[in-house]
Amino acid sequence: MDESVPKLITRASNNDLKIVWGDDRECVYNLRKLRSMCQCALCRHGTTNEKSIKLEDIPENINLLKIEFIGNYALHFNWSDNHSTGIYSYDYLRSLCE
Ligand SMILES: [Zn+2]
Repeated sequence: MDESVPKLITRASNNDLKIVWGDDRECVYNLRKLRSMCQCALCRHGTTNEKSIKLEDIPENINLLKIEFIGNYALHFNWSDNHSTGIYSYDYLRSLCE
């Protein structure tokens, strides 16, 4: 199995998403933080690539309604704040993992 592909996507808690990658690396993502790291055109300024969404603008109880696989390279998240244009590549998700 490709090491940079999720083999398990689950919830670590109400507020955290957990991804186990093909190389058994486990990453826990705080949902609110993850939402704030969205890279879509609505959340980033096109020219400067600066964030236009702030952590404090995101509801404390933000939730993930749906997770879809995009091809073999990314996840598409449907958020409970009606935001559904964000695509997170596996490379990006792995770079967010501490
Ligand atoms: Zn976005």
